[in-house]
Formats: sequence, C-alpha cells, structure tokens
Amino acid sequence: MQEYKKKNILIGKNLEELQNWTQINGETKFRGTQLFEWVYKRGVLDPKQMTNISDKFKNLLENECIFSTIKLEKLSTSNNNKTIKYLFKLKDNQFIETVSMIDGKFHTVCISSQVGCNVDCKFCATASMGFIRNLTAGEIIEQLIYVRSNVNQKITNVVFMGMGEPFMNYDNVLKSADIFHDNLGFGLSAKRITISTAGIVPKIQKYIDENRNYNLAVSLNAPTDKQREKIMPINMIWPLKDLIRVSNEFSIGKRKNIMFEYVLLKGINDHQEDAINLMNLIKGINSKLNIIPYNETDGIYKRPKEQEIDNFIQILLKNQKKFGYRVLVRWSKGQDINAGCGQLVVNN
Ligand code: SAH
Repeated sequence: MQEYKKKNILIGKNLEELQNWTQINGETKFRGTQLFEWVYKRGVLDPKQMTNISDKFKNLLENECIFSTIKLEKLSTSNNNKTIKYLFKLKDNQFIETVSMIDGKFHTVCISSQVGCNVDCKFCATASMGFIRNLTAGEIIEQLIYVRSNVNQKITNVVFMGMGEPFMNYDNVLKSADIFHDNLGFGLSAKRITISTAGIVPKIQKYIDENRNYNLAVSLNAPTDKQREKIMPINMIWPLKDLIRVSNEFSIGKRKNIMFEYVLLKGINDHQEDAINLMNLIKGINSKLNIIPYNETDGIYKRPKEQEIDNFIQILLKNQKKFGYRVLVRWSKGQDINAGCGQLVVNN
C-alpha cells in the first residue's frame, strides 16, 4: 500500500493531464496523446505492449506508474448468456458491480459511480450499503475498459445507472463521460451516454449551465410530493416542482428529450390515479417516460402483476402524442443474477 501511494496513477487522467505529466517527465506533449490512445482507445494497460514509445519511457511507466486500479473478483452470466454482471475489487478492498447487457445490435454497459450511495431511496438495494466513497475517474473508466476487452461485441451505449448517485460525484462522472465521448478515447457519441440522477436539482442546473450534451435521465418514481417523499427522502430537499422545472429547462435548451424513470411499485405508485397524475406532471415536456417494473430485492416492495402494469401503461399511452412524451417499458435484464436496476449491492 505504501508503495502504491508513491506511484502515479495514470488511469483516469484526461488528455491535458497526461500531456502535462509527460512533459514534466521530460517527454513531448505528443507522448501524452499516445498514452491517452493506448489506455482509452485500445485498452492497453501494460506499458510493455505500448509499441511506439521508447524503452526508457516504458521503464518509467512500468516502475513508477499505475494503470489499473480494479480487479475482477467474480463474473456471473445470466441464463440466456446476454447479461453479465462483474464484481470488481478496488485497491482499498471495496467492491463495485458493473453490468453488460446485449440486446440485438445494442451492447449497453451499466456502470457504477460510487461505492454505496447516500440518497437512501427506500426501494433500492444499493441504499442498504450506505455511502462508502466516490469512485475515482479511473475506477469508473476501467469498468468500461474491462467489459470492452471481455465481451466480443462493440459497446454501443453507456449508462450511469449502476451503484451510486452520479451527480453526487459530479466531477469524476463528467470527466469519465468526456473520455468515453472523446474520439481519441472510446469514441462514443454523446447520445449514447446517459447519466441518471435521483434529482439533485443544483447539479442538474450546473449540468445545464455547462451546456453538457449527454442524455439525462431523472428518477421520478412518484407523481406527488407526498408519495415521493416516502420512497425518496431526497424529495424533501428538492421537491417535484423544482425537479420538473429543471427537467423542462434541459429539454427546451438542448432540444433534446429528457428521460423520466418511473419504477412501478405495487400498491405504492401503480394506481390509475397515479398514472393520471404522472401524465399531468410531465405534460408538455419533450420526454421519454421509462416505466420500470420493480425488480424485487430483499425489502418490502413488490412488483405489480402484469395486468396491473399493463393497465397503468395503457392510461399513459393514450395521451402520449398530445402531451409530448413517449412511453417505454424497461424490462430489466439479468434478474436471475441480481443484475437488474436497483439490485446492485455488495455486502462485505
Ligand atoms: N442514482 C441514480 C442511478 C442509479 S438507479 C438514480 O437514482 O437515477 C437507476 C434506476 O433504477 C433509477 O431510476 C432507480 O429509480 C431504478 N431502481 C432502483 N431500484 C430499483 C429496483 N429494485 N427495481 C427497478 N428499478 C430500480
């Protein structure tokens, strides 16, 4: 550990930081660009394999730098082989999970942004861990590097929907998203990257003010403050009025749909009246409404029956064109390996 602390951690550095670092170490700025491409574009984390750099520099990289900070602990594959859940061990012996999902030509990777979470949504398994720490940009990015080298299908989408609240780790999340987007990095277009938030209103505002382009998903999960407060205590700090206001501002400013997520919980937010209230809440906002039938965890919440899910959706479908939203149902993948939305949890 002592030795580790003295070394330079290069994974997670952006282009400018790598260029500065190479220059400080007597190399050209271009060496920094080469390093950036080796690590992010090609996923090469072993300096020995970086063929276009001098032996002297390779030695420096090998002896004094760290390129990898996560280690695979366990891999679980779903029955249909299309979903893989990875459990990674971090340098301080904490654990995180990452999920790879294949659906036809789409390969979506769901990544974690924190160890645990302190938002405390009552229905989410990650919440039971409490908050342990933010992930570094390197730990976030390495999840994607690992999956890319492990799964033989090109990654098409990345979603910040794993463990943690991305907007409580704003800088590292945006830094990694920028590297996913960079052509010299992963080269994913901005519309293939989605950040999902429980509704940290000032951070959504910051995101808008910074003119960020990645897709934004907001976890609504209830149509009234009274209901939302019970399952998402964060609503007491940032109520629906404020959340809807910034969501609308994002969709207008970006001329881009915002995504609303709504986890359907039996007897809690799945009544006909809830569907009507939800419809009125998001009326007029260009949005995608993602209904997520609840994935059961050890808690008290249940998934509604299929007929109930369908009734709820039918109400929303009726007015979708007129009100400007589009309804999609997300049947989470990989529930047999506890890899569905909100099922990610690691108990030490
Ligand atoms: N903290 C972020 C991202 C992680 S959760 C957020 O809240 O948006 C990603 C999505 O999964 C959220 O919309 C969340 O409400 C939903 N979710 C959490 N637990 C779930 C569960 N058990 N079943 C289905 N969806 C769940």
